[in-house]
Amino acid sequence: MANVIDMLKCKCPNCKKGKMYSELGNLLMFRSPKMYTTCSECHFKFEKEPGFFFGAMFVTYALISAEMIAGMVLFKFILGFSYITVALLAITTIVLLSTFNLRISRSIWIYMFYSD
Ligand SMILES: [Zn+2]
Repeated sequence: MANVIDMLKCKCPNCKKGKMYSELGNLLMFRSPKMYTTCSECHFKFEKEPGFFFGAMFVTYALISAEMIAGMVLFKFILGFSYITVALLAITTIVLLSTFNLRISRSIWIYMFYSD
């Protein structure tokens, strides 16, 4: 359980103390999250090889699918909006969560390989 909390907080998978991101990113300011190359506490290298985080794209796909399904259930079946409104709200939600999804998917990806 502690691993999941550290993963969601984007802590280093090796020491669980250092941060993975220097900047969280802000969609409204057109800033993407900035990642440290190594951990400030234990000097663990985050990107082990070029293209290591390519696989995080698949985690992002799973996250977006889950968020869209949750959004559709909420907006259509609970709040009773029309299909076009549901589609627009789902797209808006995904765009607003894009920096969050990017950070969390990279964190999930690195924890899948380098967490004890
Ligand atoms: Zn560390």
